[in-house]
Amino acid sequence: MYVLRHGQNPLYQAVRLGLPNLCYTCGICVGDCPAARFSDDFNPRQIFLRVSLGIADGLIAEQSPIWKCTTCYTCAERCPAGVKPVEVIIALRNMCFQEGIVPHQVSKIHQAVVTKGIVSALTETILRRRRELGLPEVSEDLGAIVKSVIGEDG
Ligand code: SF4
Ligand code: SF4
Repeated sequence: MYVLRHGQNPLYQAVRLGLPNLCYTCGICVGDCPAARFSDDFNPRQIFLRVSLGIADGLIAEQSPIWKCTTCYTCAERCPAGVKPVEVIIALRNMCFQEGIVPHQVSKIHQAVVTKGIVSALTETILRRRRELGLPEVSEDLGAIVKSVIGEDG
């Protein structure tokens, strides 16, 4: 069992200090969540309540439902109690990264951002469209710029 013990990790601190522990299980965050609409095992209310109880079984994992969140923040905007399930999900993702438990596809995206500064290839179509929109040339040093912003460790 993965237990989030008091005071031993940033997630517990986020829940205790940064988020009001007042979820009354109304389900509004679930009803308006785009990820929950298309996935039977994704439920922001359930994730928030499990973390509030200090139990993260199955949440710190490559197959965890937390990776299905789009981080659209709808749950935070709609919650009548001011709870922010998305903040808990982001904290869980950060914990996964710290422990090296990350789905392969997410890891690939992370590496692409850190090393190249972009996640998709710059095709001729994209470059032409940028020129048409008057956007600046894409720097070949995007990776270096990203590193200077987020640090060498990514
Ligand atoms: S909308 Fe807020 S109060 Fe309602 S279930 Fe979700 S987190 Fe709990
Ligand atoms: S931020 Fe994540 S959990 Fe919240 S509504 Fe959007 S997809 Fe759902």
